Amino acid sequence: MPAIVQVQDLRKRYGEIEAVRGITFSVERGEVFGMLGPNGAGKTTTVEILEGLRRADGGSATVAGIDVFRDPSGVKRRIGVQLQASAFPEHLTAKETVEFFAACYDLTVDAMALLRSVELEERAGQLQEKLSGGQRQRLSIATALVNTPEVLFLDEPTTGLDPQARRNLWDLIQAIRDRGTTVFLTTHYLDEAEVLCDRVAIMDEGRIVALDPPQKLIGDLLSRGFSKPTVQQQASLEDVFLDLTGHELRDA
Ligand code: ATP
Repeated sequence: MPAIVQVQDLRKRYGEIEAVRGITFSVERGEVFGMLGPNGAGKTTTVEILEGLRRADGGSATVAGIDVFRDPSGVKRRIGVQLQASAFPEHLTAKETVEFFAACYDLTVDAMALLRSVELEERAGQLQEKLSGGQRQRLSIATALVNTPEVLFLDEPTTGLDPQARRNLWDLIQAIRDRGTTVFLTTHYLDEAEVLCDRVAIMDEGRIVALDPPQKLIGDLLSRGFSKPTVQQQASLEDVFLDLTGHELRDA
């Protein structure tokens, strides 16, 4: 089966700045694909071109078999894009928020089933602005799934969440992948990429400098003789906590 995202020699320039300098890669159907890189590497530009939101200057790209340059509207119908929860209309409940986004696609959806899939069924009647940060992130994923997308794009999905909410979201993203949806995410958190992504592309100064499963990248680095000084600390803050309270951390 052909790759669900295929990018060939993609280029984008803003005046003097060459933001994307001829990148070539593909994303396989059913994987969690991560794009990593320092600020200004060109990740957002690349992702927004694939979402049909920005025009490239050169190269080619297809998403779900659709030419992104020729038919950006067609691409938008086949993908899900997670919006920041701050972009949601106010005074709508979680259920109404899902229905609002479905209506934007002229679709009627089973909003409760979508809320169940992100474990928010019990919050269906709550105003979205009253939900916790993690719950709003899950709601934004539910809204990105209203059109049963083939590729779900997530931009920094766990920024600002506490450790427990982050892990919860990782489980959700893996469950979405296991149901057959390809996930394309950008993140600055390397631990997140290591746990979550089947493959990662590392971008720097408009180029892809590595693309492989995280464990392969780590193995390659070690086989090049890399080692870092190991500092063995005999106790952690958690040990202090347990010593003082005698209880395990419950909510971390
Ligand atoms: P970040 O992690 O900070 O979001 P990024 O990897 O997503 O960074 P881009 O936002 O794609 O990087 O930016 C790549 C380069 O293009 C940067 O030098 C940025 O300043 C520049 N750039 C991005 N958008 C524009 C624009 N609309 N006009 C001019 N320059 C832009």
